[in-house]
Parts: sequence; C-alpha cells; structure tokens
Amino acid sequence: MSTRREFLCGLGAVALAAQSESTEQRFDRLLRDILIVDTHIDTPWYVVDEGYDIGVEHDYYETDIPRLRRGHVGAVFFGVPAQPQEHPPHLWVERSLDLIDAVHEMARRYPKDLEVASTAADITRLHRERRIAALISIEGGHQIQDDLRILRDYFRLGVRYMTLTHFKTNNWADSGTDRAVHNGLSRFGREVVREMNRLGMMVDISHVSDKTFYDAIEASRAPLMASHSSCRALCDIPRNMSDGMIRALAANGGVIFINLSIAYLDPKAGQVFVGYRDQRDREIADLLVHQAGNPKRFEMKRAIQQRYRRMLPPVDIKMALRHIDHVAKLVGPDHAGLGSDFDGISGMVPQGLEDVSKFPALVRGLIEMGYSDGDIRKIMGENLLRVMRRNEEVAKQTS
Ligand SMILES: [Zn+2]
Repeated sequence: MSTRREFLCGLGAVALAAQSESTEQRFDRLLRDILIVDTHIDTPWYVVDEGYDIGVEHDYYETDIPRLRRGHVGAVFFGVPAQPQEHPPHLWVERSLDLIDAVHEMARRYPKDLEVASTAADITRLHRERRIAALISIEGGHQIQDDLRILRDYFRLGVRYMTLTHFKTNNWADSGTDRAVHNGLSRFGREVVREMNRLGMMVDISHVSDKTFYDAIEASRAPLMASHSSCRALCDIPRNMSDGMIRALAANGGVIFINLSIAYLDPKAGQVFVGYRDQRDREIADLLVHQAGNPKRFEMKRAIQQRYRRMLPPVDIKMALRHIDHVAKLVGPDHAGLGSDFDGISGMVPQGLEDVSKFPALVRGLIEMGYSDGDIRKIMGENLLRVMRRNEEVAKQTS
C-alpha cells in the first residue's frame, strides 16, 4: 500500500520526467496515439472524374492512403460538391450520389485502411484499430433540391455534415460569395437546420454569408462547425470568419477548422489569386472541352493550375499555425481545428504542409509554440469528436 508521501513523490517524478522530455520525445510520444482529424478533403471528385486511385501514392494532389498513413491521419471528412457551374440542377442529386458512392467504394476496396464512419464512436474505434475513418459531407444546401426527404436520404447514406451553401446563394440560404436574396436563412432554411439537428447531421457554416451564419446559430440546437474557413483578422476575405463570428461560434460550442489554402491564409496570396481566378478557370474549362478525348487532359489541367500557382507569394506552415493560434487566443483551444480543403484548392498549399503526410509538422509547431499535450490533442482532432457527440446527443433528445 502506498502512503500519501510516496504518492506525492511519484507525482513529482512524473512532473520531472515531463520537464526533462525533449521536444522530439514529446513529438514522438504524441504521434504514437494522437487522433488527427481533417474535416474537409475533396478527393472524391478526382476518384469519379479522373479515376484517381486513393490506394496508391501519387506525386500530385494532396491525399492518398500511403500519405494519410505517413501523416498519422485518423479521420477524414470527404467533401461531396455538385458545382452549379458544371452540373445543371437536375443532375445535382445524381452527382452527389456518384461522389457518395466513391467514398463507400474506396472503403470497400481498401478495408484494411478505410471504413466509412458515421458516429464519433466509430472514429475512436477505428483509430484504436489503426484504420482511417472516412466520413461524408455534402457541400452545398442546393444538393437537397429543397426537399427534406433528400436530406434524410443523404443522412441514411452516411452524410454527417452539410455546408448550408457553396459559392452560390441557393433557394433558402445566402452564400458569402454571391448575392444576398434571403437576408440570411429563409424560413425553410431554418427548417433545414432543425431537421439536421433532429437527424444528427452537423450544420456547417463555411461558405455562408455573415447573416446566414448568425441565423444558423440562432436556429440550431446543436453546436455548429466551420469545416474549412480561416480568420479574417489575418486574411480579410468573405470566406473567412470575423472575430465576432468566431466568438459567437465558440459561445455555441462550435469549432472553426482552419483552411490551408494559402489564398485563405495570407492576404497577399489571396489578392493575387482573386486577380487570376476567373481567367484560370476559363482556361481550364476550355481545355477540358477541347481535349475531351485526350487521356492527358487532367495532367494538362494540373499544369495550368501550377502555372498560376507559381504567381503566388511563398507562404509557409507558420501562417497556418498563426490562424490556429489566433482562434485559441481569442476563444480558447476548444474551438480550433483543421479542415485543410486539400484536393479542393488547386495545389495552393503552404510550404511545409504540402499534403496530408505533413500534418505531424503542425503537432511539432504547436509544441514549439508552447501548447500543452491536452490542447494539441483537442486542436488536432478531439474538438471534432466533441461537436459530433453533442450533435448525436441533441438528435437523440429530439427524435
Ligand atoms: Zn469549400
């Protein structure tokens, strides 16, 4: 039986050991079991459109299983968009179903590495089994075709968050990058939010207008998430969140998951990007039309993206860490996370964070900035689990 004195001595020894641990030792120890969650990666459209095989390593794009493994990634929310500029309204549901199928098929093809997860408990179980949880998210409320039955069908297929709008305003919610026609969320938009709460589908406010954000906070009974947005205080663009919004999100129990596009992290890069974006997109659209039968067309597309990408000023991992640190200082480490937007940002990645294999560099960065083990674990993944669990509880109470 140990005495109180022995117990206190033991505690002292643990504290001393922790003190004498080097940054490298701490880094290695954390990486042994830390849960790393990325709340927004767009790989499914490459799988469907370009036959991209997530199981083999590539020297382009930002995500595949070998690199997820090297990056110690435990869970990924794969984005399912149906862009109105590429798909007419009558194809939005079909396009969504094709991309949802791609995630399920990825998991079927690589069961040792991936499993489709639909609860926070699934994520922690898969992490213990050393497999990667693949989750599904819908990127744009227009994809439910103004029909709550389709929203429920998406949930049954495994969709666990929906971004209320994409780049365009839809029939019930204003986007932050389009005309405001509803003064935020319409009456039906509030109904969508409440149905999502009832189902246990998280409400994502990345992409929405400021007024839609505040309306969603008011309408939702569960914490919200910004699955891939950064901070306006450091890079003032509509896709990022103001300090006021981040405070409101934190008061609601939610989390902002930082977008790693350098156009969202750094104001100079953002400015250059906005200047060339339309021209680049036209060039790519022309190429894909004129080279429709050319097997090299996607390689040619990437070459165009890279040519424009080189016009951007260099931005490195420190800028991503500054955004995380800004949120943590403003509202606490319970409200910051990681939502890279990899495979959706045309290669505009920071130096030192070029793909999913580099996430451990964020762990090292947070150690060097003085964050505790507990706070690093929250930021890298546990904050998502908290929001997801709370959404599951609210759903249980309301259905
Ligand atoms: Zn997006």
